[in-house]
Amino acid sequence: MEKSHTEEIVLDGAPEAITTEATLPVNFIQNIIIEDLKMGKNAGKVHTRFPPEPNGYLHIGHAKSICLNFGLAKANNGITNLRFDDTNPSKEDTEYVDSIQEDIKWLGFDWEDRLFYASDYFDKLYEYAVQLIKAGKAYVCDLTAQETREYRGTLTEPGNESPYRNRSVEENLDLFQRMKAGEFPDGARVLRAKIDMASPNLNMRDPVLYRILRATHHRTVDTWCIYPMYDYAHPLSDAMENITHSICTLEFADHRPLYDWCLEQVDYSRDGESRPQQIEFARLNLTYTVMSKRKLRELVEKNYVSGWDDPRMPTISGLRRRGYTPESIRDFCDRIGVAKRDSTVDIALLEHCIREDLNKKASRVMAVLRPLKVIIENYPEGQAEWLEAENNPEDPAAGIRSIPFSREIYIEQEDFMENPPKKFFRLTPGGEIRLKSAYIIKCESVEKDEVSGEIIALHCSYDPDSKSGGATAGRKIKGTSHWVSADHAVPAEIRLYDHLFMTENPDDDTDGTDYKAKLNPNSLEILTGCMVEPGLKEALTGDHFQFLRQGYFTVDKDSSSERPVFNRIVSLKDTWAKVKKA
Ligand code: ATP
Ligand code: MG
Repeated sequence: MEKSHTEEIVLDGAPEAITTEATLPVNFIQNIIIEDLKMGKNAGKVHTRFPPEPNGYLHIGHAKSICLNFGLAKANNGITNLRFDDTNPSKEDTEYVDSIQEDIKWLGFDWEDRLFYASDYFDKLYEYAVQLIKAGKAYVCDLTAQETREYRGTLTEPGNESPYRNRSVEENLDLFQRMKAGEFPDGARVLRAKIDMASPNLNMRDPVLYRILRATHHRTVDTWCIYPMYDYAHPLSDAMENITHSICTLEFADHRPLYDWCLEQVDYSRDGESRPQQIEFARLNLTYTVMSKRKLRELVEKNYVSGWDDPRMPTISGLRRRGYTPESIRDFCDRIGVAKRDSTVDIALLEHCIREDLNKKASRVMAVLRPLKVIIENYPEGQAEWLEAENNPEDPAAGIRSIPFSREIYIEQEDFMENPPKKFFRLTPGGEIRLKSAYIIKCESVEKDEVSGEIIALHCSYDPDSKSGGATAGRKIKGTSHWVSADHAVPAEIRLYDHLFMTENPDDDTDGTDYKAKLNPNSLEILTGCMVEPGLKEALTGDHFQFLRQGYFTVDKDSSSERPVFNRIVSLKDTWAKVKKA
């Protein structure tokens, strides 16, 4: 769990200690930063970056990285760049570039004027590659992909040197220039770093720096037919942007020696002697969720979901449409902390965070999901009265609203049982129930369809003195139901969601089926003919409500005032609180 504390920071190695009042995050990366600041490293600067590849929409795992990169910089008077890692044109698209920016802003973070693209550096990166060739540190290799794999060796056996490894500088320069000029087909040649084919780290066995690829790039279009590899472009992009702490996920730990090699071998212009430092942290995994962009993309492209923003998706846009707030996601990212070992977080914690946030903010309203008509026989026909209802017991400032009451109302089908079991404290034949913010009613008779025997309506009586403030208002009644006035109610569509996957770890394919076999066929239930309070007609897309007893809801983008559509974000039952107790 995150705590906050006040730390002593010495900037620039200056003798006097500066105590910051700002609360600092507590995690091992913050500790590294504190040490760096004490030592006067990077001239006392903290400069991070968030480097998404624009090949998909951002997901909750990216939110963790965003909160970490922007959060650490902010806590240490630093800044953060947004850099698109667009070195693989075959999968990248401006749709993703746009959605990524929208999502980061929505989460509440600001890169100000520091929006960059790795493709901004294609010329520089090419120049640096020429520099490496001239220094005898890189060579053009003609081995096929298959041969390259064979030459690489294994974890237990060293690799073999490519027969092209000892080409002369002149020949390498000529071939690399011709690769760039488009003289060779895709895949015919690559530029490789000349490091060590016997290195115990496979990433250091002469890794590929450039490949030939004819694909139209979303920004440089057809200017280039050679593209730098991530492991080469990334450290140098960091360096050119004067990044101090390059934070990435654990799978890059084995690539760190190559990251450092690139920075050592290339003579790039930099501020003083500072050099970016790669630091790895554990990626976020969530139960009942897949997080791989490849898999998320497959779900979208094969129509398993309605799009990247399907409210069941773990994408930021999906969570937003589902009704999650930026505050709840940031709170979640704070609580999960930052570790050096992979683990899986219970999705119930994410749900807990949105409940906590909306408990403070969301107006309480009444909506009947599966309506059952109730006719109050002793209430005057044609009469309506407006009753006062509290908007949020957690927030007196939220005030009160008026809701109409009339002779015919709807209650929830499940709030009535003709032959109730013991301890059923809702409405039964001859029994009573309190209507929230209204009267006590008693069920006098049950009207059924003559053919099907289905219950069509309940005929009830009401106690006219039982309204709040009335003589019998204090009568002890076990159950309270939500309800809406039939004459005033607005018909609505309500979408209920369950986990997108049935199993806790859908990535587990040890049973011989892939993650798609674990999709939950009941993850979406659409209820039509729901009845909601008339005031909800004015609700706008993205507004949040607590529907009494039913959970937290938001207005979906498919909504119109003629036909409101609501998404259930979460029910009120907090499974996380239970997990913690157990
Ligand atoms: P790809 O498979 O396409 O590389 P990716 O998830 O690594 O997918 P990027 O766009 O490269 O996607 O990620 C941007 C940043 O977000 C990287 O620094 C990456 O480490 C981080 N990131 C991605 N997934 C997670 C996750 N599940 N938890 C934490 N950080 C993540
Ligand atoms: Mg990546």
